[in-house]
Amino acid sequence: MMAIINDTTLRDGEQTAGVAFTADEKIALARELDDIGVPEMEVGIPAMSSEETEVIQHISTLGLDARLIVWGRMCEQDVMAARKCHVGFANLSVPVSDIHIEHKLRKDRNWILDQIRQYVPMALDMGMDVCVGCEDASRADMDFLLKVLETAQQAGAWRLRFADTLGLLDPFETRSCIRQLCSAADIGIEMHAHNDLGLATANTLAAINAGATYVNTTVNGLGERAGNAPLEEVVMGLRHLYGIETGINTQRLCEVSQLVTTISGRMIAPNKCIVGSAVFTHESGIHVDGLLKNAINYEGFSPSELGRSHSTVLGKHSGSHAVMDAYGRMGITLTSEELLVIIDRIRMHAMRTKRNPNPEDLERFYLESAFGLTTLTS
Ligand code: MN
Repeated sequence: MMAIINDTTLRDGEQTAGVAFTADEKIALARELDDIGVPEMEVGIPAMSSEETEVIQHISTLGLDARLIVWGRMCEQDVMAARKCHVGFANLSVPVSDIHIEHKLRKDRNWILDQIRQYVPMALDMGMDVCVGCEDASRADMDFLLKVLETAQQAGAWRLRFADTLGLLDPFETRSCIRQLCSAADIGIEMHAHNDLGLATANTLAAINAGATYVNTTVNGLGERAGNAPLEEVVMGLRHLYGIETGINTQRLCEVSQLVTTISGRMIAPNKCIVGSAVFTHESGIHVDGLLKNAINYEGFSPSELGRSHSTVLGKHSGSHAVMDAYGRMGITLTSEELLVIIDRIRMHAMRTKRNPNPEDLERFYLESAFGLTTLTS
């Protein structure tokens, strides 16, 4: 198994409703993704506007190590627009499900194959490598998809993208589809997953397991509707489940996540895995006691891989070990009577304020317990 990340934050990520990056933001993100070791990135849609084309042209002059890819439809206008970008690789997208062919394009299957026969060689002649992007592949007839693959190969395509455009697959179905494609393919297969049922990462890993080489990701899972497979999840999942290194510096995943949060205006939840603010914070008595004895008890992987460390907080679920430890670090040794009073006081505070006590709160609780005060200011 091997996995090459083709990050599409700058294309499918930006396609999110309500998200728009400025030219400077696109350039900064391209530099950052390149800097952390992303090997391939889809940088935009040249046919969208002359501004977009200019930004892509600019990115192409930065001397980045990453392979740059532009996105377009399988048509003359988009191939011509791609050529202007001086980027050596184009993903040309074409619907392959009968639903899209009939109800969106109002064409037939043969028309799709003809488009591939016509526009893949045109892009090749202009000096671009081509990935044939199969839109809505998860709802396509498999025999027709295999015909698309054969046609794409004959036309000279370098890669075929399998897009679960609506995020409808599960990992078992993904594996079955990708296996069939890979066993028939002489070219690389790429997985493009969406997260409508919360399975984008699982399906992306299943595709690698089934023989796909390339996978699309976006930072924070940014993307249309529920988004795409998150870069940070795929990178860490590949490492910890399959022992595959992607060449991406995991120490900097939080930094790039922060950048994308800022420029997209899309906050991530505190419990967003890998990069969320709270995913290495522990409160419950049993867990904190176990962590204090040995971190391995409650850490599946070390937060240090992400340049992070675990932290413990006090709250409703705290046990005596954690409370004594917290006060010990403030230079205070609690008697067993004080400990019982303070545990109660911390629980009351947590329920009233919905937050963890800070050091000033803890000092106040201690003074109250030591002097028998019963002020109930939270
Ligand atoms: Mn997509």
